[in-house]
Amino acid sequence: MLSLNDIWVHYGPVAAVKGISLEVEENEIVTLIGANGAGKTTTMRTITGLHHPTSGEVRFCGERIDRLDPEKINALGIAMVPEGRRVFPQMTVMENLEMGAYLRSDTAGMKRDIEEIFGYFPILEERQKQLAGTMSGGQQQMVAMARALMSGPRLLLLDEPSLGLSPIMSQQIAKIIKALHQAGRTIVLVEQNARLALLLAKHAYVMETGSIAFHGLAEDLRDDPKIRETYLGV
Ligand code: ATP
Repeated sequence: MLSLNDIWVHYGPVAAVKGISLEVEENEIVTLIGANGAGKTTTMRTITGLHHPTSGEVRFCGERIDRLDPEKINALGIAMVPEGRRVFPQMTVMENLEMGAYLRSDTAGMKRDIEEIFGYFPILEERQKQLAGTMSGGQQQMVAMARALMSGPRLLLLDEPSLGLSPIMSQQIAKIIKALHQAGRTIVLVEQNARLALLLAKHAYVMETGSIAFHGLAEDLRDDPKIRETYLGV
């Protein structure tokens, strides 16, 4: 569904992503793990068109997308939940969700999607009139995920969904990611919590200083002594 082929991304003269290639198949969860500054967020922003690669190709469902702008990429079916959630704090939960659907005009489809989304996040249905900025970190993560789902994406990119959340709330978000996957969603998950990410994903890519250092089945990486020592603290 998604492929990156030898992608380089620079900030001025500095290369943040150095020739990475990766593949995401339909209906799978792929995770990208690695230390702070490894280039994970830059990679996600490149997929969504917020950065254009200096060289290399990004293809989505066969179409080359690396020169398209973010709105066009969103309209093609890719939505990202950014690191730090970035909900609209002065808007209600429902208004945040509506913002996620701003490119859509199919009212009936949107209504259906809202119902489905409230199935994943019942608390958002209860709190739909609450200002998003007054909610807890975990609830704001849910608003951000729900907002991204409102664009009806075929591919959902999640950047550090568990960052700053309590272990219990992280588990709750992990359960929702699993449920989304079981319902057939395709997900790319960036996580510093490698343990959680390797449990959720089928395939994993480990980034180090802008490059892919390892990739393979998540279950194999969980058992790899170097990964265990460096990323799982075992
Ligand atoms: P984190 O988890 O901290 O977000 P990351 O793996 O997502 O880390 P990136 O945020 O993609 O890493 O950063 C990769 C490299 O690019 C880092 O060295 C970072 O300092 C640098 N970088 C990121 N954004 C910018 C920017 N806007 N301008 C210049 N350099 C940047």
